[in-house]
Amino acid sequence: MEQSTPLIKILFEHRDNILKAEKYNEKEFEHFIELLKEAEHKRKVIIHEIENVGEISVEKLHEIIKIPRQDLELNIEYLKELGSLKSIGLESRFFQKILENNEIEGLFPNVSIIRDKNLCCGCGLCVSVCPVNAINYLDDSVDINEDICFKCGLCFACCPRSFFPKVLKTLREGINFNTKFTDHLNNYYKVFTANTNDEQIKEIAQDGGIVTSLLKVAFQEKIIDGALAVGSVNDTHKPLPKFVKDTNELLETAGTRYTNSPSLKILHDSKKSNNLAIVGTPCMMQALKKISYYPLNQPFYNNITLKIGLFCMESFNYRDIVDLLNNEFQKSPEEVKKMDIDKGKFFLFYKDGSSESIPIKRIKQYGRLGCFFCDDLTSEQADISVGSIGSDSGWSTVIIRTQKGAEIFQKALDLQLINAKEIKEEDKSFISISRISKSKQKIYTETTRPKMIEQEAYIRRKNFEEVPKGLTAEMVNLEAQRCLQCGRPLCITGCPVNIEIPGFIRLLSLKKYHEAIQFIKNFNLLPAVCGRVCPQESQCEQTCLLNSLGEPIAIGYMERFIADWERANKLKECPDCKATNNIKVAIIGSGPAGLTCASELAKEGYEVTIFEAFHKGGGVLVYGIPEFRLPKDIVKEEIETLEMINVKIKYNSIIGKILTIKELRDMGYKAFFIGVGAGLPMFLKIPGLNLNGVLSANEFLTRSNLMKAYMFPEYDTPIKVGKRVTVIGGGNVALDSARTALRLGAEEVFLVYRRSEVEMPARKEEYHHAQDEGIMFQFLTNPVKFIGDENGNVKQMEVIKMRLGEPDKSGRRRPIPIENSEYLIDTDTVIIAVGANANPILTRSIPELKLNKWGYIEVDENAKTNLEGIFAGGDIVTGSATVISAMGAGKKAANAIIQYLLNG
Ligand code: FAD
Repeated sequence: MEQSTPLIKILFEHRDNILKAEKYNEKEFEHFIELLKEAEHKRKVIIHEIENVGEISVEKLHEIIKIPRQDLELNIEYLKELGSLKSIGLESRFFQKILENNEIEGLFPNVSIIRDKNLCCGCGLCVSVCPVNAINYLDDSVDINEDICFKCGLCFACCPRSFFPKVLKTLREGINFNTKFTDHLNNYYKVFTANTNDEQIKEIAQDGGIVTSLLKVAFQEKIIDGALAVGSVNDTHKPLPKFVKDTNELLETAGTRYTNSPSLKILHDSKKSNNLAIVGTPCMMQALKKISYYPLNQPFYNNITLKIGLFCMESFNYRDIVDLLNNEFQKSPEEVKKMDIDKGKFFLFYKDGSSESIPIKRIKQYGRLGCFFCDDLTSEQADISVGSIGSDSGWSTVIIRTQKGAEIFQKALDLQLINAKEIKEEDKSFISISRISKSKQKIYTETTRPKMIEQEAYIRRKNFEEVPKGLTAEMVNLEAQRCLQCGRPLCITGCPVNIEIPGFIRLLSLKKYHEAIQFIKNFNLLPAVCGRVCPQESQCEQTCLLNSLGEPIAIGYMERFIADWERANKLKECPDCKATNNIKVAIIGSGPAGLTCASELAKEGYEVTIFEAFHKGGGVLVYGIPEFRLPKDIVKEEIETLEMINVKIKYNSIIGKILTIKELRDMGYKAFFIGVGAGLPMFLKIPGLNLNGVLSANEFLTRSNLMKAYMFPEYDTPIKVGKRVTVIGGGNVALDSARTALRLGAEEVFLVYRRSEVEMPARKEEYHHAQDEGIMFQFLTNPVKFIGDENGNVKQMEVIKMRLGEPDKSGRRRPIPIENSEYLIDTDTVIIAVGANANPILTRSIPELKLNKWGYIEVDENAKTNLEGIFAGGDIVTGSATVISAMGAGKKAANAIIQYLLNG
């Protein structure tokens, strides 16, 4: 047998520290190592065979290594999660990323996954299994003492969130009983509704008093000599794990509480019990199941005799329960006697005998983030599960799953400690438990984030057709089901216009497309635009909980899908609008900020007119972002929706030149929103700027996009692109210019950026697209001067190499020139895309308007300027930013304008 696998080796290396921690004595430690050796040996054999066979076929392996099939599958899953099966294409879902990004030594270089607050289920088992007492569970989260931790990873192996193999979920091993199976309840023998006859238990019980009654029987019959339950110290709503050694102590426990109690934290201290009962939530039952397989329970926790699982939709941190009581009921914990969930409602029973309830939906927003990953309502891994769903008030639903569970339940019946009525599969309550249980099930571990179908790079680099083609309905359906539908959706807070993202994803998962587009239009009238150009990766998708385990939900792709579905079906959904109130509001600029402000006001019945300088609406969406990223027909159609809700658009109307705000006021406009953007190109102050062939990205893109130079000769707009084009900059504008130049016929396109790839502000997706199309990048390089030929045409650019220093105000590392590193780049066209300045035409016409030193309009937190009735938002306030942030500003300003017009 193999003597020294990495896990065993590292445990041996730290043997002295482990024994010093006094958690395990020498004999226990040796025994543990022996058991580990056995398990590790099995895994070594599997790896060896897999490497020999060169492919992963469980059947074949099963034939070769005579290990039971389920056993084999579980070990494969474990090895995969350790990153050991990468060579055969089995990627670890959770662990690999951690391994790749790690420099710390140890078998499990970074065990931080177990203390990720977004992920932790709060079972507390990691505290018990840590052999050197490096882990503590304080204030609702795990804390690791890095000085003591030696990265053995036993905590990772036991954590139900790090991974919980699917095979393990339905494993019937050890059940040895005539059970049935349903997808939604897992293995079970019989289901009952029951309540206690014991008056003392009735006093402390939440529902039917079944858990306490079963423990009482188990103590009386000497089936157990100890139990892990929850007790309370000062506050009954702040339960703490409690080891109970007899029936008297049992009556001091707190009964079911909705606040999380990390009971398994004291599992190790309960070694003194020979036959231990554990009462806990589904995650705790999963944790115990996991250690029973990957032999961490042996020799320490083989005293677990009975597992009583609780139904659990989600649990709460103590602070959140206090907030829930305060916000939803205006009550403090001291006033509350007990809480209950019944028939879709959350009840509070007060000490004065009264009670109140709210719909259960309302409490979801207070749930622990880690609970939203959980797919088990009924504690499927317990011997017997107890909960209130499916039973009347004062009764509990009991699911008997194992022989042990059945025996205890029968004993309680025989002793007439409880009353019970069987619930059959066809009964309403059985169906209701199954339905709710199904709603909690997840598929996020079974599928991966989809990739959009795209035009091949070698084809698209020569045309202006859109690059990505979107997702299919099947892909969207699967992806929508991957969404956790968490009760506290961080994606909404990540979205500047606060779209209720889980709501539209849920409709997509039900294939209710019509409802989904209607739903989204209530928040955003430009979904086809946002689905294409929003930097979701740094907004809604960045805050998605699934980031803790892998890839976030593809929110942007789904938004694009539903908007495209609407267009393909020639529908034009409009949000509901109030009847007109005849109050006129003027919006200046038809970029995303102006369009959003206009739609929000129109919905409320205001008479809105947009004044736009150009002959087309959309701002940067039409003159900046190229066709291959955002087809102009799409922008046009989304603007048409706005016109359908009565927004008027006056094109070719430069406010500040043709009309002034004062004149608009005289025409009866009561409030104004300025969204004129940051369209003034910024230039580099270096020699040679005036040479022919040196142009701003603004001019280059406007000619190509707005004036359709790319459609020459159909549109007769001249545009000159040389053979060797150099673009300066690292944002979206630079990438758009480079890719446009390529499509207009440039043979080689270089992008020169003074910082490194990491600091590039452009969207990652677009950067990868550009790379695939053949754009060449020169990072850490800055132009010094442009050099012309005898005819005044640019022919070369002198550049200098840069290095990165300390971070500047933007948080990005400052580029510093490297002395004497100048060199020349041959180029015949230079496009400068180093940023833009505030558009000054309008602001110059209102000298009283307060601007900052860069010429951007100053506003307060409600988008209000220093002038009466004038509001502003978007790039003209923030400087060049993003479409969605401009939309968020437009929305905020609309709310402020409404308040202003209502209250004066
Ligand atoms: P703008 O979109 O600039 O609209 C301002 C409008 O006001 C224009 O239509 C202008 O003609 C009009 N106007 C100006 N002065 C007057 C006047 N005096 N009277 C009447 N009308 C006037 N963001 C992303 O999120 N994702 C991207 O992929 C992305 N790519 C980009 C690519 C390029 C090339 C550029 C230039 C920007 C990109 N952005 C991107 C940034 C984004 O487009 C802007 O942040 C956003 O459009 C700003 O919206 P806005 O409404 O404030 O201004």
